Parts: sequence; structure tokens; C-alpha cells
Amino acid sequence: MQIPFNKPYMTGKELWYIAQAHANGHLAGDGQFTKQCNAWLETRTGTSKALLTHSCTAALEMAAILADIQPGDEVIMPSYTFVSTANAFVLRGAIPVFVDIRPDTLNIDETRIEAAITEKTKAIVPVHYAGVGCEMDTIMDIAQRHDLLVIEDAAQGVMASYKGRALGSIGHLGCLSFHETKNIISGEGGALLVNDPQLAERAEIIREKGTNRSLFFRGQVDKYTWVDLGSSYLPSELVAAFLWAQMEEADVITQRRIGLWNSYHRWFAASETAGMCRRPIIPAACSHNAHMYYLLLADLETRNQFIARLKLQGISPVFHYVPLHSALLGNVTDEHMAIFLIPNIWRIVWCGCRYGLV
Ligand SMILES: *Cc1c(COP(=O)(O)O)cnc(C)c1O
Repeated sequence: MQIPFNKPYMTGKELWYIAQAHANGHLAGDGQFTKQCNAWLETRTGTSKALLTHSCTAALEMAAILADIQPGDEVIMPSYTFVSTANAFVLRGAIPVFVDIRPDTLNIDETRIEAAITEKTKAIVPVHYAGVGCEMDTIMDIAQRHDLLVIEDAAQGVMASYKGRALGSIGHLGCLSFHETKNIISGEGGALLVNDPQLAERAEIIREKGTNRSLFFRGQVDKYTWVDLGSSYLPSELVAAFLWAQMEEADVITQRRIGLWNSYHRWFAASETAGMCRRPIIPAACSHNAHMYYLLLADLETRNQFIARLKLQGISPVFHYVPLHSALLGNVTDEHMAIFLIPNIWRIVWCGCRYGLV
């Protein structure tokens, strides 16, 4: 048997809903399926406004515009994350300030954030690694005391929560991904959760190419014009139709993944006791979504051997992020970035569970 790195899960209804969108004759964005998906996200996460986007990257870019990030501003984030977390802000001329991660969850170490704040800091971007929540109470408290925005990169966090609140719904803004490697998918896809109602109207404008098209369609203005910065961040109805099939089964998908995750966790218990690896740690405040199952190994060589051995058996694990500060050092000068504490995360390997459902 081959176990691939990722295997997209299909509910079986995706093509049926795409056929309905086709029959409806509305293929651009913001039709019936998009509205259903937005409403589902609002109900399930408790956010006041959810907007589907064509990726989490797009949602992060919208968040950077909404946060009014200007050249030279600083944005605090972990180095151990995906490139989009940083790119969205670098595209606006901001400097990513990388803070080390916690040894247990591999999430940003909230106790080191305050030391990274300067008068140029505009926002904190916690990334919920593997669908396990960051220490959001502390992060929100720091943000409030320093008047900063919190933008959650909850790309991996759909259907997971921190102290009962959905990941992505706790900061001022939250960004979700429906990429095919995530839990709930539409090929490429994402959403912006606008948790601060004061940002809602501008979010709609930025998503519609900087126009007040949404207000116009609701009859709130009588002309549809260019009013702000923006781009095209909304997905086609065909994508939303696919996503709707997945949202309908989100509970089943999550339960199934958690069952598989728990099996991995049991299987690796003895290896952990024998000192061969370290398994994921889930804090009591977090209810996770089994986005991935990862293991920490002793060093780079052990990791490479472990991956090679599994590959011989038809299992395809990969190692995860190369920390952004170390990836960038070759072509970015010091003035473009500030590094606080160097994370020692070369020891990470993660294996298998992300493909999830077989
Ligand atoms: C997947 C991912 C993204 C990007 O999501 P896309 O929908 O592919 O743009 C951003 N941040 C993190 C942490 C991710 O895991």
C-alpha cells in the first residue's frame, strides 16, 4: 500500500453542487453558494462577517491592507510558518519581525512578543500550527495594551478552537485556508473572518477591487465606483459550490481525522517513551482538528534516515517549514528584517496524518 503525503478527501457531492451553480448561470463570485459558505462560517466560528477568498494568502493580503500597513511598519510573527504569513505584509513594505516558537506547540512564544514590540509595530500575527491554538488570551492582552491589531493565520485551524472559541475568530481578523492540503477543501480557497465590525465595510470594498460594489448591490449607495485600494479576492461560484459540499460534511471529516490522529498518537507512544521521538502536545485550552500528525526527532540525520526508511515502505512523509529567517538570509539585507531569537527547529519531521482519510 502507498501512503501519499496528501490525499484530498471528496464527499461525493462536489460535482453535483458545481452542476447546480452551472445551471443557475451565475459563475462569478458572491452567488448563492458563496453566501451559504459565508453564513456557515459565521455560524460555526461566531465571527460577525465571513468573506470567502480565493486563498488564505489572499485573506492575509486583505488583512494587511485593512490593517493600513505602511512601508517600514513592523509586524510580529513566528519564523516557523508558511511564506504567505510574511509575504502579505512584505508586499506592503512592512518588516516581518520573527519571534521564536514555544517548544511544546511550536506556536509563537507569547512570553517573547513584548520584547519585540517597537514604536513601529502595527500588528501581531499568531499562526495556529497544526490546528492547535496559540495562547490567545495573553496575545490579545499584549495587543490591547500596545494598541496593536491581531491577525490570526488560522490557515490550518478550521474546526479547531481555543477555550471554546473558533480559531480565526479571536483576533481582529482571521484567515482560513481551503487549499487541498487542508481539512476542508476547494482546491484553492480561503476566507477572511472580520471579527472587528468596524473593519467589515472596508473589507468588502478591498475584496471587490476597491469598489463599493457590495453596498451598491444591497441598495446602500446609488453608484458603484472606485473608492479605495483593493484587488480581486473573491472566488468563483464553482469553487464555492465545491466548498459547500465539504462544509456540509465538516463534522464527519473532522471526527474521522481525529480518530486517525489518535491512532498515530497511540502507535508512537512507545517510541516516545524510548526517547526516539517527541509526539505533539495539545494544551488543555485547545481543541484541535487533527490537521497533521508530526514528530520531532533528535537531529537532522535521524530525521533524514527516518524519512528514507518510511519511503522504502511506501509512506511519504515530508519535513516541514524551513524557518523564514533562515530561508531569506541569502537574499534579504539586514534592514529588511529583524530577527529576535533563532528557532532551533531543524529537528522537525512530520509524517502522514495530513492525507487523513483513506
Ligand atoms: C496553507 C497555509 C497558508 C496559505 O494558504 P493558501 O490557501 O494556500 O493561500 C498560509 N499560512 C499557513 C500557516 C498555511 O498552513
